[in-house]
Amino acid sequence: MWLTPDYLIDGDITDIPLERLKADGIAGLILDLDSTLVAPRSGELTEEVAGWLRKARSLFKMAIVSNNRREPYLQQVQSLVDMPTIGRAAKPRRRGFRQALEILQLQPQEVAVVGDRPLTDVLGGQRAHMKTVLVWPLKTMNEPAWKTFFRKLERRFIKS
Ligand SMILES: [Mg+2]
Repeated sequence: MWLTPDYLIDGDITDIPLERLKADGIAGLILDLDSTLVAPRSGELTEEVAGWLRKARSLFKMAIVSNNRREPYLQQVQSLVDMPTIGRAAKPRRRGFRQALEILQLQPQEVAVVGDRPLTDVLGGQRAHMKTVLVWPLKTMNEPAWKTFFRKLERRFIKS
């Protein structure tokens, strides 16, 4: 069903069962940036996320596809994580995902899109015929309670 991710993770990006994805035939990950990989506007990796990235890199080809439009910020992130970083993607549009696919040299069904938003990350991944992974925003981020409330509502909606 639309918006129902293939993997609904009850945790943040570091809780993704990487071995299971690998066993399911996933060869590449396309990561959302803000709230998924880094706290918005921070441009910094926590120790935990950096450790997760090292492990994920040993198992998958990876790229970032973000709706962020700030070029200096995107470049900062790209040099920090050292992976292809596509900005201004206008997810759920397919264009950014297709660009990433071209770089990764994989088939859509071998790629999982990882993100924190059903309407951009999950829908976009589905439209691009990729697998999808919905995560909570980084647990080190302090999100306002109203945002968490709406995220819970979204999850309840896509589960039903
Ligand atoms: Mg995000």
